[in-house]
Amino acid sequence: MSTARLTVDLDALVANWRALDAASSSNTETGAVIKANAYGLGVQPVARALAKAGARRFFVAVAEEGAAVRDCLGPNVEINVFSGHMRGDTDMIGDLNLIPMINSVDQMLRHVEALPGHGFGIQLDTGMNRLGMEPDEWMAVRDTALDLSPNLIMSHLACADEPDHAMNTRQLRQFREMTAGLGVPLSLSATGGILLGPEYHFDVTRPGIGMYGGLPFAEALPVARLDLPVIQVRELQAGESVGYGNSWVARDRTVIATVAAGYADGIHRIMGPKTSLYAGDIACPIRGRISMDLIGVDITHLTEEPQGLTLLGPQQVIDVVADNAGTIGYEVLTSLGGRMTRRYRGA
Ligand SMILES: *Cc1c(COP(=O)(O)O)cnc(C)c1O
Repeated sequence: MSTARLTVDLDALVANWRALDAASSSNTETGAVIKANAYGLGVQPVARALAKAGARRFFVAVAEEGAAVRDCLGPNVEINVFSGHMRGDTDMIGDLNLIPMINSVDQMLRHVEALPGHGFGIQLDTGMNRLGMEPDEWMAVRDTALDLSPNLIMSHLACADEPDHAMNTRQLRQFREMTAGLGVPLSLSATGGILLGPEYHFDVTRPGIGMYGGLPFAEALPVARLDLPVIQVRELQAGESVGYGNSWVARDRTVIATVAAGYADGIHRIMGPKTSLYAGDIACPIRGRISMDLIGVDITHLTEEPQGLTLLGPQQVIDVVADNAGTIGYEVLTSLGGRMTRRYRGA
């Protein structure tokens, strides 16, 4: 077998969800965000594990993702769709009982005309300027919207991963002003917001990255492990080079293992110079450029030839690799390609 193996620890995922649930106020429901194929880890096993652990409300980005979650979990969970009610979504929303988070007056009209009486939520913009109704728009339709009994009103924080950022309190104040006295369940916080403290929790939280083992939830257990099989091992003499462009040249005798994965698997070229793979606890630096399907790794200091080397695991979590690539853990996970074999442990 020569494809990379991604092992997803469902027990760690569930433990992270429970820890975020425990960090939330006691009357707050902890939902779960499983958009983008559960951040690349595989939506079906992730959704099943979370439902088994007690999650009852799931959030996805688009209706098609909601349909996949409904297929896998059946009728007894609530599925909220962040993109709201888009043209062409009506059948899916209606037939599969998805709850669109309505983002505009246009979406609201579409929804009530196409599916009168069907549940919906409302998304408000409190300053991020991404999705949701702005304060003026909301004030204009608020009474009409409330007569239609929305299930949930939500907004999203732009800077929750920076606890001292003034944007957090500004958005909190704006959200409170826009929702005061409505008697509808409220939701403001993703992972970062949960960690900001109880005044950010409201009725429902929406953690994503923290469940998958990423910052800003520093106590998260690692969930993703990525092992890359070694295809071939060779010895280089001083002056020989590795990979495209001869970008790395050996100064001494060097042993290079070639592993079967590359940028086509989401292992971005830019991380190469700073990143090692691991043989157990021993770091083995990447040498030369990362190719589409192959990476050269320096194993000169190992006493045995490894069968595989680990890119993601307890030795090196997603945020370390993300830093090396100038990005965030979210992008490392969602970049992991379709070619690798996904295996699931636990739950
Ligand atoms: C992605 C997303 C979340 C989850 O955010 P994390 O930072 O991964 O916890 C929550 N709410 C909305 C609106 C999102 O787009």
